[in-house]
Amino acid sequence: MRPTSKYEMIRRIVSDFKQPTYRYRQITDAIFKQNVGEYERMTMLPSLLRDELIRTLGPYVCSIVPVKELTSRQVSKVLFAIAGNERVEAVRLSYERGWKSYCISTQCGCGFGCKFCATGTIGLKRNLTADEITDQLLHFHINGHALDSVAFMGMGEALANPYIFDALTILTDPSLFGLGHRRITVSTIGLLPGIEKLTREFPQVNLTFSLHSPFDDQRSELMPINDRFPVRDVLNALDLHIRHTGRKVYIAYILLRGVNDSIVHAEAVAELLRGRGPGEHLYHVNLIPYNSTEITPESYQQSYRDQVIMFVRILKSKGINVTVRTQFGTDIDAACGQLYGHSQ
Ligand code: SF4
Repeated sequence: MRPTSKYEMIRRIVSDFKQPTYRYRQITDAIFKQNVGEYERMTMLPSLLRDELIRTLGPYVCSIVPVKELTSRQVSKVLFAIAGNERVEAVRLSYERGWKSYCISTQCGCGFGCKFCATGTIGLKRNLTADEITDQLLHFHINGHALDSVAFMGMGEALANPYIFDALTILTDPSLFGLGHRRITVSTIGLLPGIEKLTREFPQVNLTFSLHSPFDDQRSELMPINDRFPVRDVLNALDLHIRHTGRKVYIAYILLRGVNDSIVHAEAVAELLRGRGPGEHLYHVNLIPYNSTEITPESYQQSYRDQVIMFVRILKSKGINVTVRTQFGTDIDAACGQLYGHSQ
């Protein structure tokens, strides 16, 4: 059964206690406009309503508890305790111009077993509820941080968790987080049913597809999901997404030294993305320098700088839009799943 979010619970409590409907707005304003993190401090509410909120939802608005935080100049990484004695992590990135972006988890662990990924070694523990997903952001909000953009790129495969659609509803609700759809990015390894649902229900949310190899056999080896949803099928779904939404689609490509960073790979990536019809200019490749981890069974290394430059040059020469993602947090285990691994 789908878990009820705290916002639905608050609405229900307000109505069960025969309170005027504006009480709900008072509570959400306290949380989202005045950054109030405890129900006890909502003194504008009648005490019987406050007591009921505390009895049902606990004293704190945020239901997940930060247990560890690592901070470097531009990155802050927080490990949260969630129900069931489990842990998930979220990252805040502060860009020089003051923009604050967040990377949040959607699952505890992950069952897809991508070879280069620390989270993949944990296996899937469980899906996070919509509250657990959005509370990662609520924690930063209550602590006074602006929420400029958010990516579902932390632990887990976002589109494998049906509750992310409830989380998206909460994040975009103007009376709650009120985030613009275009400030949210969902990242996927290519789960077709999820991509189709996102296209239908949240067409303006940004979509990133993790490619990591243009060759089916190698991609299947790196990312076993490719056997179920091969690259070409996923790209066809992405073509439809572009046609339906008129929005860019990002192709994430982690560069692994000597594995997928050759000239042949760059040319094959360009080949995959060309000739896709009127929307093909809306594909944008995002090259990602690999963050090494000691946790994965096979160890991969970051590509040499010259190789990255060459990869970019080839894609550009073939007319493909490409950028190299700024690298953050190598000093604090920025690869997802690493903080979790070290806390065990
Ligand atoms: S890359 Fe994503 S889908 Fe693959 S194992 Fe890691 S968290 Fe799961």
